[in-house]
Amino acid sequence: MIEKVPMSAQKFPRELIDRFGRKVDYIRLSITDRCDFRCVYCMAEDMTFLPRDEVLSLEECARLVKIFVRLGVSKVRITGGEPLVRKNALWLFNEIGHLENLGELVLTTNGSQLEKQAQDLKNAGVKRINISVDSLDKQRFKSITRTGDLEKVLKGIQAAKQVGFKNIKLNSVLMRGVNDDEALSLVEFAIRQDIDISFIEEMPLGEVDHTRESTFVSNADTLKLLQSKYTLTPSAYSSGGPARYWQITNTQTRIGFISPHSHNFCESCNRVRITCKGELYLCLGQEDKVDLMPLLRQYPDDDVPIIKAIINSMAIKPQGHDFDLRRAEPAVIRFMSHTGG
Ligand code: SAM
Ligand code: SF4
Repeated sequence: MIEKVPMSAQKFPRELIDRFGRKVDYIRLSITDRCDFRCVYCMAEDMTFLPRDEVLSLEECARLVKIFVRLGVSKVRITGGEPLVRKNALWLFNEIGHLENLGELVLTTNGSQLEKQAQDLKNAGVKRINISVDSLDKQRFKSITRTGDLEKVLKGIQAAKQVGFKNIKLNSVLMRGVNDDEALSLVEFAIRQDIDISFIEEMPLGEVDHTRESTFVSNADTLKLLQSKYTLTPSAYSSGGPARYWQITNTQTRIGFISPHSHNFCESCNRVRITCKGELYLCLGQEDKVDLMPLLRQYPDDDVPIIKAIINSMAIKPQGHDFDLRRAEPAVIRFMSHTGG
């Protein structure tokens, strides 16, 4: 008879290192592909979403997070789709928020549900929140998000501040001819609110109604524009992600630039992404992946096969993404909302 060795007695590495020597200590977990918005750069207007049984249950999400933390992951970002529209999402935050060895549980949200949920998220142990805002003009906000209500999002930001979240950050995607004239006003807003702001270059993920090249705004140009109004000093601050930060003199606000096109950040990549279907993607811009859902369902009481699959996945983490805006087709077919931004 083969004796089953309990998992606690088995030896597994306490860290994940890929074949290029990069340590993976950060996961981004998409808990739903659904969203109450349909941002034009993120989704098609008539998106079809996954059937419920093809999406990880919240218990499966919690199990995965616990396994990754065991493997040395210290930062977990919950994202989507819109994570806060998932029913009972709060259960997950409570389940993982205070895990020993988890340094930081953080959240990316469109802010629409924050007014109601900010306090509960804080109590659950969420440390930082990124809130996406691409325009401060009500009409324009509506047309970019197709369904969103700016007022609700602004109230969500206030709620997050009131319950004591520090390090709130706005995320903005600028699109040429759509909202690229708002870089300065978005920064002014961030300064007034004493919060940070990051500009994310639009990425060719999924097929949307415009060509990515037609709307692309380079962060290098945005930086030049902002430097014409503010004194910016390069900051050593890192939020553990690919953003490069600049401090605005005499303010509390830092401006981050996430520039997958003009600054390739792959050499220091420390993250992997898990989709709401349980696919472990080793790179946002490549197709290399391992399907964890079949293992989760086949071995409900045994984490070893999942641990092994995650460790083995380090051998296929690509060296880098390969975004090229001039290509007619998207770099990858899946939408950011599926993979988790
Ligand atoms: N719904 C939440 C939100 O909007 O913050 C979380 C998910 S969303 C996919 C995460 C981030 O990805 C957002 O800041 C959004 O602006 C960004 N994003 C979505 N599609 C993108 C794209 N094609 N290129 C660059 N950023 C994108
Ligand atoms: Fe929804 Fe976020 Fe995508 Fe906008 S960017 S459609 S809010 S998932």
